Amino acid sequence: MAVTKGKIQKNLAAIRETIAEHCQIARRDPSEVSIVAVVKSVDLETIKNLLDVGLTEFGESRVPHMVDRAAEIDAHLRRRQNPLPRPLRWHMVGHLQRNKARAACGVADVIHSIDSLRLAEEVNKRAEQADKVMDVMLQVNCSQEKQKSGCAVGASVHLGEMMTSLKNLRLVGLMTMGPLTKNMDLSRHTFTRLREIFEEMQLEKIGGADFRHLSMGMSNDYAMAVEEGATIVRIGTALFK
Ligand SMILES: *Cc1c(COP(=O)(O)O)cnc(C)c1O
Repeated sequence: MAVTKGKIQKNLAAIRETIAEHCQIARRDPSEVSIVAVVKSVDLETIKNLLDVGLTEFGESRVPHMVDRAAEIDAHLRRRQNPLPRPLRWHMVGHLQRNKARAACGVADVIHSIDSLRLAEEVNKRAEQADKVMDVMLQVNCSQEKQKSGCAVGASVHLGEMMTSLKNLRLVGLMTMGPLTKNMDLSRHTFTRLREIFEEMQLEKIGGADFRHLSMGMSNDYAMAVEEGATIVRIGTALFK
């Protein structure tokens, strides 16, 4: 069942209010924080409603889904009367397998989940073949849970630096996933850690002016992530409940 425009608007207003409140606590400007609507669990009608309320940054966690969705939405946009306020952009936020790198490069505008040199090199090669420069983020496993993707904290700065030497990648930031926990101190610690890595890399001038994003915070922990400096929050459930 599609989530109605009214419901999305209401949820979006609440999310924006929460972002504003927590920006205030951290003395940040709320305009620094953008929302990626993670659409992996919703139908096409709901995505059209997202476009109608002005959202244009969409996230998917699986490449085949993203490819299908992007094609459907493209077809919809060709028939749509009103122009979008901004061009639609697709964010690949889930774990990326190397054999999906080519397909990801075909549709994604940003890949949040680069976590190894081998993957970075593969995406670089596929981006070159597609004649584009791919915006990417380095995913760091800040909570150090074993089963989780993301590179190790200790390897992150060096890996980030190596990524900037790949000609068809543009390193635009860092990404992490909060721990699976209701312990908010633990979540905060994860986000603080990513920010510290980010600041260290900025100090070393890795990535230059392009390197400016912290992608962290989902429905259950975005308030905390915003306090710790998130510039991109990835929200699914809270938009569609
Ligand atoms: C699903 C997903 C999200 C959104 O999660 P919600 O809890 O529904 O807000 C964010 N990031 C990634 C990587 C995801 O897979």
